[in-house]
Parts: sequence; structure tokens; C-alpha cells
Amino acid sequence: MIEIKELHKSYKVGKNSLHVLKGINFSVKEGELVSIMGSSGSGKSTLLNILGMLDEADSGSYHLDGVQIKNLSEKVAANYRNKFLGFIFQSFNLINYKNALDNVALPLYYQNVGRRERTDIAMSYLEKVGLADWAKHLPTELSGGQKQRVAIARALAGQPKVILADELTGALDTRTSYEIMDLIQQINDEGKTILVVTHEEDIAEMTKRIVNLKDGIIIDDKKVNQVKAMANV
Ligand code: ADP
Ligand code: MG
Repeated sequence: MIEIKELHKSYKVGKNSLHVLKGINFSVKEGELVSIMGSSGSGKSTLLNILGMLDEADSGSYHLDGVQIKNLSEKVAANYRNKFLGFIFQSFNLINYKNALDNVALPLYYQNVGRRERTDIAMSYLEKVGLADWAKHLPTELSGGQKQRVAIARALAGQPKVILADELTGALDTRTSYEIMDLIQQINDEGKTILVVTHEEDIAEMTKRIVNLKDGIIIDDKKVNQVKAMANV
């Protein structure tokens, strides 16, 4: 589903160049639930932004669902993003003047789905995340956990091939974080490919595979011992 080879990325900082990704190789198969774990500044978001076509690598290759992602125009990149990817962020990134239902329906709007169908599909995803009764509420009327559920429903609504989540529990208390990860596991159990970026080991342990990033290099890539992961919940 995702295949990257020898990926490098540097940022210009004044006259200097900061080498952030130093030759990343990894792949994700359809149906996997993978976490990329590393301390702050290790390059996790940089990598996720490249995978999400929000930024481009300096060198190396990236294939998403068999399509090479390279030198895309902003329009084509936006098109692929809508078609292939769903995003979940630490800060939810909901539109504050739109209610929960309209937030979830947004990816469908960009896919030119008609209003009636958009509403029906969005409602079904709100039901899925347990928020059917909150459809008409604005994000400001929701708790952090509820906001993240809306964001998850929105990520699912466009029926993406892959869901990319950057520190999705970073703004939530421990209990709510685990509830959100339970939902992520349930969605993965239904077949969705999900990539989670986190600096928290207990969150990473709730995925099936942990890719450890340190100073822009993958230092470890291992399957999670499911028995140990269960014990954390
Ligand atoms: P993480 O998500 O693991 O905390 P990031 O990928 O955000 O790490 O950042 C990796 C390094 O790159 C950090 O040192 C950060 O300061 C730097 N960095 C990130 N984005 C930029 C940018 N747009 N310009 C310059 N430096 C950046
Ligand atoms: Mg980050």
C-alpha cells in the first residue's frame, strides 16, 4: 500500500540545512495498523507530511497504492489526497462554524458527492463513532474525545485507502486516549490500513507494529506482542 525507499528530507534554516530524514526505507501492507514512534524532533511529522503529500522529499521514492508520488502539481496532489488518504491530527482540525455532520461530510463535498447522499453517508459514520446524537452540535460544544471521534468519522467518510494520524491522542487524557485507540483498532479490524505517529509508547503498543524513528533513521521495526498490548488496556 505504502512503499518508500531511501527517503531524504532537509529543511533550510537560515543559511544552514537541517537533515531531518536520513534514508528511510519501509513499507506498509494493506490492512496493517502501524505506529511510527520516536521522541520529539525525530522527524515523525516530516515523514507523515511526505506520506500525506503535504510535503515532498528531496530524494528517494514513494509509491502509494502502486502510484508513484513525485513532482505532482498542487491540483493532482489534492486529488490524490482526497482519493487515497484520510487525516487525523492532534488538534482535530475541525471547522468550528460547521456542525459535526457537516465536518464529516466535507471530504465527500470535495469528491463531488451530492448533498443528500453526503448527509446520509456522513450520518452513518457519525453513528459508527457513537456520535449520532451530536450531529447538529458545533465542535465547540464537544469534548476533546468527541471532537477526535468526529475527525475519525471525517477521515473515514472519504473512503480512503489509508488513514494517517499525527499524535491523535496528544491532546487527550489517558482514558480518552485509550478509548480513541480502541476505536482505531476496531476500524483496523474492519480492514482499514492505518498509520499512527506518536511519541507515547503505550499508544504505540496498541498498534500491531512499531517502527522506531530516531534522528531521522529507523532504528527498529517490530511486531507488537499482542498479549502485552492487551495488558495495557
Ligand atoms: P517530530 O514530529 O518527530 O517531533 P518533526 O518532523 O516535526 O519531528 O521535526 C523534525 C525536525 O525538523 C525538528 O528539529 C524540527 O525543528 C525541524 N523542522 C520541522 N519542520 C520544519 C520546517 N518547516 N522548517 C525547518 N525545520 C523544521
Ligand atoms: Mg510531530
